[in-house]
Amino acid sequence: MQFRDLVKQYNVLKPAIDMAMTDTAASGGYIMGKPVKELEAELAEYVGSKHCITCGNGTDALTLALKAWNIKEGDAIFVPDFTFFASAEVISMEGATPVFVDVDSVTFNIDPVSLEEMIQKTIQGGKLTPKAIVTVDLFGLPADYFAVKEIADKYNLLILEDGAQGFGGSINGRMACTFGDISTTSFFPAKPLGCYGDGGAIFTDNDEWAEIINSLKVHGKGSFKYDNVRIGMNSRLDTMQAAILKPKFKAFREYEVTDINKAASLYTEKLKGLVKTPVVPKGYYSSWAQYTIQLENREQRDGLQSYLKENGIPSMVYYPNPMHKQTAFIDLGYNDGDFPVTEKLCKTVLSLPLHPYITEDEISKVCVLIEDYVK
Ligand SMILES: *Cc1c(COP(=O)(O)O)cnc(C)c1O
Repeated sequence: MQFRDLVKQYNVLKPAIDMAMTDTAASGGYIMGKPVKELEAELAEYVGSKHCITCGNGTDALTLALKAWNIKEGDAIFVPDFTFFASAEVISMEGATPVFVDVDSVTFNIDPVSLEEMIQKTIQGGKLTPKAIVTVDLFGLPADYFAVKEIADKYNLLILEDGAQGFGGSINGRMACTFGDISTTSFFPAKPLGCYGDGGAIFTDNDEWAEIINSLKVHGKGSFKYDNVRIGMNSRLDTMQAAILKPKFKAFREYEVTDINKAASLYTEKLKGLVKTPVVPKGYYSSWAQYTIQLENREQRDGLQSYLKENGIPSMVYYPNPMHKQTAFIDLGYNDGDFPVTEKLCKTVLSLPLHPYITEDEISKVCVLIEDYVK
């Protein structure tokens, strides 16, 4: 069994993907070819955002947003303690300071109470200027944007939605990647919508930021490529990746998000009463980047993971370390116990095999093994 079976997906979509690849090879337009603009238009329309700008990967997408806002040394950016490293890494890379925030134990997303606490603490500290909040739509579930928006408005902060895992999710019909002042996603192969290498995209309704980001991603270009008006990056989505994404995005829209939701519901039904299963609040829709259960403690979690492995079932721990305990952030001076929910989750979470092409039999097999183990 595969954790996320990308080869099975390829075999289903093979004719369209093979054609996209050979057409691109034959076209000669390997950089910023026609499929890139076409894909950007399709993605913008799907999420309901004025601009979509593709780029090299999800990390660059976050970096480009921070650069467009001129985030720099002395700025505080609030970010969940429970996320993939890149969400916080990009902040330090710009010279600003990530300020970690605990997460909600049910949704795994940024906890509004902890957020406001950390904002007030930062203001009282008097050393850093609060500028923005990075929200993460962790495991496919959009963050609590009702509460986050209220806090952002109260303290005059920008929202950067890290939708690397959230693309395809929604709240009351409003799509993920439209909740930030700028929102980003990643097309890393294992994300909800993945390509066959690295890729990313930025979404915004703001014309000025869109223009700056379009410039920044091509060496700070002005009116043309050799007129350089600012220091930028080289961060474009390859034509080949855009061409591959087009048929994959079609399948994603037509059935993959629906199918992965069915698979996730089946897990939840079968695991009821055995382990803590993920919760999707009313009005929310997840794109299920991960299906993550919680065990009682580290021993039980690690034991279950070994037991599944012995039986040929892959599982993953997303994430084993809180941001505030990462070696790279040691200088920020956080302590054990600063973010208790994240610390507990790192010891107790386990993500199970899930993708749109998983079968009922496969899900049943995983659930029977979990039942055997916990009983
Ligand atoms: C994957 C991921 C990123 C980074 O995306 P890449 O395309 O791998 O650079 C950023 N944030 C989160 C939450 C992610 O899961």
